[in-house]
Amino acid sequence: AGTVRAGTIKSAVGLGVLLAEGIGDTLRVSLTADPVEEPPVAWGILECLGIRRRGPELVSCPTCGRTQVDLIPIAQEVERRLAGCTKPISVAVMGCVVNGPGEASDADVGVACGRGSALLFKHGKPVRKVAEDEIVDALMQEINNM
Ligand code: SF4
Repeated sequence: AGTVRAGTIKSAVGLGVLLAEGIGDTLRVSLTADPVEEPPVAWGILECLGIRRRGPELVSCPTCGRTQVDLIPIAQEVERRLAGCTKPISVAVMGCVVNGPGEASDADVGVACGRGSALLFKHGKPVRKVAEDEIVDALMQEINNM
């Protein structure tokens, strides 16, 4: 076990290897933390392995030299606002218009953020352009309509 960060990494690697091999049907994650921290980690391991799915999956690009926006707060805000969503969809938050839609073509819906605006896309195909201060609202609106 370990603290939240260290214990999550250890559990994901240790349990993930076994689960990926099809070994085990019961999962318990132990952390040196408030016990309420443990079920989300266990659930996250199952989701990453594609064994269980509940609610949306958020994918965000790691950013690179092409990134022209402060992507971290945008991704964090989308993650926060998706917390209560139960739709089993994949959502992408990408850092550039050139490669974002293509790199996230597996996502059901996403935004590719550029300087001052973003491209809303579905399955890699453009839907519409949105202003920078409307990125998260526009994405959430699109998700609500799906
Ligand atoms: S989507 Fe754009 S900014 Fe993000 S990693 Fe890919 S190329 Fe870089």
